Amino acid sequence: MGFATDAIHVGQEPDPTTGAIVAPIYQTSTYVQEELGKDKGYDYARTNHPNRKALERTVAKLEGGESAYVFTSGMAAIDAVFRLVRPGDHVIVSEAVYGGVFRLSTQLLAQFGIDFSFVDTANLDAVNGVLSSRTKLLYVETPTNPTMRITDIAAVSKIANRNGVTLAVDNTFLSPYLQQPISLGAHIVVHSMTKYLNGHSDATGGAVVLTRKEDAEKIYFIQRSAGAGLSPMDCFLVSRGIKTLAVRMTQHNANGAAVARFLEAHPKVKRVYYPGLASHPQHEVARKQQRGPGAMLSFDVGSLERARRMLNAVRLCSLAESLGGVETLISLPALMTHASMPRDVRERIGITEGLIRLSVGIEDEEDLIADLNQALLQV
Ligand code: PLP
Repeated sequence: MGFATDAIHVGQEPDPTTGAIVAPIYQTSTYVQEELGKDKGYDYARTNHPNRKALERTVAKLEGGESAYVFTSGMAAIDAVFRLVRPGDHVIVSEAVYGGVFRLSTQLLAQFGIDFSFVDTANLDAVNGVLSSRTKLLYVETPTNPTMRITDIAAVSKIANRNGVTLAVDNTFLSPYLQQPISLGAHIVVHSMTKYLNGHSDATGGAVVLTRKEDAEKIYFIQRSAGAGLSPMDCFLVSRGIKTLAVRMTQHNANGAAVARFLEAHPKVKRVYYPGLASHPQHEVARKQQRGPGAMLSFDVGSLERARRMLNAVRLCSLAESLGGVETLISLPALMTHASMPRDVRERIGITEGLIRLSVGIEDEEDLIADLNQALLQV
């Protein structure tokens, strides 16, 4: 079946007891056993529940994985992946990674003896340069947040396979509709489902999609032991959101491209970072591995003062953290999503104080451009 059909039907069969086309929310913490040791497949909601199982089937299918496990947030999912390694192991991470991943690795997991290197994974020599016999995991975010740097997934997967390293890719910025890292050689895919998969800014969630049985067993063990599996209500909301993923992403893509073209031509904008523009340094890699450029972009207006004037002048766009919802969100990474990253690292990877990030929603294109245009007049 096609992607849109799978997004609507896989894991979402009508309820066998009542015929309800949408499965009920199993808002229960425990399940009664028929007799000692005999249950109907569920015993306790931390371990598993029908809404979680349904969503996990959908996400695994859409990413082309063997299995998936869903967590209370993207960070909980990423934390579970990092727990696949042991003290003394080495992990390579894309340097322009989401600020929360930088904080988790440097301030929390490093305390447990895991050694992290942050490199530009778009540069294969840089990846090869830090590889060692202790390297167990290569964690790639592509496109990166917020400078939209693209890593060639097929190329890094060759390096990973040659060296017995697991390749995990954060596919949050594009969703499986626009990029399928497993088909390009990734072993693991992670998502903040808070973003495009849910798409309606009304729940947080994370997913880990696996291709290998041994990884899946470990991730399920972590999920049920540490207890960060997604709740019935939130699974229901994300399952509901995924049904419209294909149509939403088509519109996001079109609006993202239109807004990027508008910004690139605007005299107040110094630089636009968007993989769909020919000016993007990895435009060709993006065209090769993505089905479309997506709706995340950032642009530099030159200084914090100018950025502040723009952010305070928007009316339709909302000044907020997060991304991937139907409504357009605007933010300042240096003071918001990437505030936990040291200033020198931020500046080295291009996150200046004048860099504004946009998550372009699915409103009418003309309304978005009119709002950005009137706000840019204040810059
Ligand atoms: N990965 C990326 C690319 C993100 O942008 C985010 C959050 O913004 C996360 C992971 C973390 O997800 P969550 O906020 O759901 O924990």
